[in-house]
Amino acid sequence: MQSSLIGKVQKAKQYAQEPERVRFDSLKVQFRGENGDHEVTYESGKWDCTCHFFAGWAICCHTMAMERLLGVMVPEQQAYPEGLQQAEVAVAAGA
Ligand SMILES: [Zn+2]
Repeated sequence: MQSSLIGKVQKAKQYAQEPERVRFDSLKVQFRGENGDHEVTYESGKWDCTCHFFAGWAICCHTMAMERLLGVMVPEQQAYPEGLQQAEVAVAAGA
């Protein structure tokens, strides 16, 4: 076994533990929601989703979930409208 290849695998394992090294510039995913599939995209710091809720609020459970999944790899956090801020507090309190 080539030691240089072992080094590559070791570095991959190390990098996979350090998500702050990665920053998404754009992405497109199919999100399987409870009521159907939605296409979620992220481009130049802006989220988009094909679901009905996003059309009215410019944010939705799918984009919020993606933000939580990707964490520091998406440095720009979405602004939560006031109603969703209150909902977040309620969920944190155990709702
Ligand atoms: Zn959505």
